[in-house]
Amino acid sequence: MVALEPSATLAMAARASALAAAGVDVIDLSVGEPDFPTPPHICAAAEAAIRAGKTKYTPAAGIPALRAAVAADATRRTGSEVTAAQVVVSNGAKHALHNVFMALLDDGDEVVIPAPFWVSYAELVKLAGGVPVILPTRLEDDFKLRPEALRRALTPASRMLLLCSPSNPTGVVYTPDELRALADLAIEADLAVVADEIYDQLVFDGRAAVSFPTLRPGLAERTVVVGGVSKTYSMTGWRIGWTIAPEALSKAIGNLQSQETSNPSSVSQHAALAALTGPQACVLEMCREFQRRRDLVAARLRRIPGVRLPDIGGAFYAFFDISAALAAGVGGITTSGQWCEQLLEREHVALVAGSAFGAEGHVRMSFAAAEAKLVAGLDRIERFLSRG
Ligand code: PMP
Ligand code: GLU
Repeated sequence: MVALEPSATLAMAARASALAAAGVDVIDLSVGEPDFPTPPHICAAAEAAIRAGKTKYTPAAGIPALRAAVAADATRRTGSEVTAAQVVVSNGAKHALHNVFMALLDDGDEVVIPAPFWVSYAELVKLAGGVPVILPTRLEDDFKLRPEALRRALTPASRMLLLCSPSNPTGVVYTPDELRALADLAIEADLAVVADEIYDQLVFDGRAAVSFPTLRPGLAERTVVVGGVSKTYSMTGWRIGWTIAPEALSKAIGNLQSQETSNPSSVSQHAALAALTGPQACVLEMCREFQRRRDLVAARLRRIPGVRLPDIGGAFYAFFDISAALAAGVGGITTSGQWCEQLLEREHVALVAGSAFGAEGHVRMSFAAAEAKLVAGLDRIERFLSRG
């Protein structure tokens, strides 16, 4: 446990906040957190829940109405039936992931994680006794895991494949065919699949979200979908996420949660219920705004000599290659960590080093920030990159 790394995203955000509190004009593009307020009808539902006395323990796996709403929402959006018994509501998607790893992994079980990966995956797998097997992907392949690479990584200890589409940190979205090829291999090799679909509603250019377990018959029995309200409804602080799993596994996850944390906040559950069952226009509006910002950020970054990035189809991150700048070694900087340190120190812009996502030579910028902030941040990044 002492070897556990802190979350690099949260650590950078904390540093940026501390600098801002000390009066420095910091542009924080580190943490992945929508900048919009939680929509008013969701806040009103929480206030009503407090007034109605919904402030006590709830069933450990969540209030029945919310489990049913998550199931109904998944059924409506994917076209495949999900039942309330398959849903466990947890303290955010991070906690949901922890539950899955604890429930499924035995000591020494290998979990294949394509890199770049979200910072917490490898640490949470290790915490549960699993062994992360990190598979690098290439920018030329839009950072997508290819089935041949997965096949080469399989061993008798392989137990699980972890996929995140739309991806944090790259924003890349797999096509259904690409996912089907990985699904076939997962079935052949008898792997469990954890599909982190927390960004499934934040997709651009008319893409539709495809949910992994719907892609082939027999997949739902081996897949756990992880989702939540943090990103879709700008509710990061409310701490509501969930798993959608086969019923027996859901029961085990619910039991684990009943021992570890009991229910997630009752008031937050009522807010999440309002989010899922109320008007959805707010989601579309936020998504459109993220797409506009994606256009701005991708175009500006692509203009900077030496900077390369993949096709950003969803989420709110630009993960760009700075290896040309690192190879030039300007100012003695040779790693993405040093580069981010210097960018923060000299230009007061907070990004997260690619090394935290298992992809040295890159950095991640969140574009979940107002346009003026993004423009100013990009000006500073450009100036930093063009210094002699
Ligand atoms: N998965 C991914 C890919 C994420 O980016 C995040 C962001 N925090 C999470 C899970 C965890 O979300 P939550 O805030 O619901 O814990
Ligand atoms: N997932 C977000 C990010 O990657 C929030 C921070 C975190 O949970 O680590 O920045």
